[in-house]
Amino acid sequence: MSGKTFKEASTIRTNFHSHTTRCQHATGADEDYVLAAIAAGYSHLGFSDHSPFPYEDGFVSGMRMRIDQYQDYLGSVRELRERYQDQISIHLGVEAEYYERYQGWLAGQLSSGTLEYLILGSHYDLPEESFYFGEANTPALLRRYAEHTIRGMESALDLKLRKFVSVLYVAEMGRPQGIPLFDSIVLLGRERALQRIRTARLRVG
Ligand SMILES: [Zn+2]
Ligand SMILES: [Zn+2]
Repeated sequence: MSGKTFKEASTIRTNFHSHTTRCQHATGADEDYVLAAIAAGYSHLGFSDHSPFPYEDGFVSGMRMRIDQYQDYLGSVRELRERYQDQISIHLGVEAEYYERYQGWLAGQLSSGTLEYLILGSHYDLPEESFYFGEANTPALLRRYAEHTIRGMESALDLKLRKFVSVLYVAEMGRPQGIPLFDSIVLLGRERALQRIRTARLRVG
């Protein structure tokens, strides 16, 4: 066991939530993430930078890659996947907000096999980035956050995600500062909200 405890030796290390510098709040080269994961004994590494969206009005976000950076992102991850395939299994995904009008674009990325998985990042209400849920501090705003997030999870059903990605889609649901997700979901009715999540997992998985 080369000095490892049984638990260490038997634990599979994975990380599916990794940004890149394209979103403007990560540092280091894409390859650095791979090298760090290999050095730390990870068997799987998923790239899930914030998804670009094909904004029709030319909106430029301060927290996600631009659509003209998307091909570079895909190419970079694929190249690393190939180069390090003997050492680590690399997966290609994005962390996406739930914006109904772009669901078709996202669905196309999944059905064509361009992306393997999604993480739902529920940070903003519509219209695009007009309201940050981290600032939700009234019952009405928390309810809006919870409803938006649950709609996002439900939309995963329509995207026909493959089994591998189903749990990951609900793995990150945004964490407004100091407001645990389930506390806000309680406002909708805990049982109702949790039941929806369970059903979503079952149906997708
Ligand atoms: Zn993230
Ligand atoms: Zn982020």
